[in-house]
Amino acid sequence: MNNSIMRKVCFTLAGLMPCAKTLSVVKAKSPSSKRPLPLGEGWGEGLANTLRHPIPFFFSCYASRPHPSPLPKGEGNKKPTYRVFLGALGAILILAINATPQTPGQKQADKEYEVGAVLWQQSSGEHRALAYQAFALAKIMLDRDLRINRRGKLRRAIVVDVDETILDNSAHEAWLIKNHRSYNPQDWTEWCNRAEAGAVPGAVEFLRYANSHGVRVFYITNRKEIEKDGTARNLKKLGFPEVTGETLLVRTDKDSSSKEPRRLGVSGKYHVVLLMGDDLNDFAEVFEQSKTVASRIEAVERNRAQFGAHFIVLPNPMYGHWEDAIYGNNAKLTEEEKAAKRRDQLKAN
Ligand SMILES: [Mg+2]
Repeated sequence: MNNSIMRKVCFTLAGLMPCAKTLSVVKAKSPSSKRPLPLGEGWGEGLANTLRHPIPFFFSCYASRPHPSPLPKGEGNKKPTYRVFLGALGAILILAINATPQTPGQKQADKEYEVGAVLWQQSSGEHRALAYQAFALAKIMLDRDLRINRRGKLRRAIVVDVDETILDNSAHEAWLIKNHRSYNPQDWTEWCNRAEAGAVPGAVEFLRYANSHGVRVFYITNRKEIEKDGTARNLKKLGFPEVTGETLLVRTDKDSSSKEPRRLGVSGKYHVVLLMGDDLNDFAEVFEQSKTVASRIEAVERNRAQFGAHFIVLPNPMYGHWEDAIYGNNAKLTEEEKAAKRRDQLKAN
C-alpha cells in the first residue's frame, strides 16, 4: 500500500473511531439472553471517549495532514515511515479505547452488590425450597377454606402478584449486572415483551390446582399496559390458568402504583382466600403507606397473624420496596449515594 492510501486509511479510521463504541455496543450481547443493546445508543459516549483520549486522535490527524514536500509525485516523494506508523498507531489506540465495552446511555453502574442476590435466586436450592414451601402452605390454606367455607355465596379467588411471585426475572437482573446497567423502564418493557421469564417453582402447579377447584386466579401486577400482551403470552406459555384481560390486571394509573383499587375490585365480587406476593405492597394498603424501614417492620408486626394464613410471601432478595426504603424512596440518588445508604443501614456489633 503506498503512503497516500495509507494516509487516507488512517484519516478515515480516525474520523470513524467515535462510532466504534456504538458498533461494539450494538454487537455486544449477553451470554444469557443474546439480547443486543439498543441500536443508536453509544454515539455520544463514543464521541466523549475520543475527547477524553485525544492523543491517539492527534496521531492520526498528524499522519493525515498534507505532505509538505515540494518535490513532484514519484519515488522521491514518499511520506516518512514514522508518520505512517504514528497514524496507524493512533487509529489502533482509538479503536481499542472505544471498543471497550461500556454501558450505553448511562454511567457504568456498579451492580456488584446484586450478584449475591441473583446467584441466590438462580443457584440456591434454598430459593427453590422456599418457593415450594410457600405454594405448599398456600395449598394447605386453600384446602382448609374449601373444607370449611362451603356455604359462601361468592366465588373463591386467589390474588397473586406476577414478578418474583410466579415469574422469575432473575435472567433480566443478571443481564443488567453483566452489562453494568441500572434498572430502566425501556429495558424492562423489552424484557417483558420477549415473554421469556421462567416460572417460580411450584407456582404453575398450585394455581392450576386452585383453578381446577373452581377458584378464580387474579394476576395483579404493576407491569404496564404496553407490557400486558407480552406478560399474557409469557404466563400462557408457562401454563398458568385463565390468563385473560379480566384476570390480568396491570397498572393503568400512571400517577399511582397502588394495587389497592384493583384488590378492592376483586374482593368486592369474590371471596379472596389468599394473596401471594414477594413485596409487602402486594398485600394491603397499610404496607403501601409504610415507606420507611422502621414503619414497614412495624406494619408487619401489627399484621403478623395474616402471614401464613391470608398473606403468603415469596422470597426476593434482588429488589423491592424494602430496598427503596433504605434509599429513603429517593430515585435520584447516585450509585455512590445508594452504596453509602446501604452501608449506613447495616447493623453491626
Ligand atoms: Mg413482585
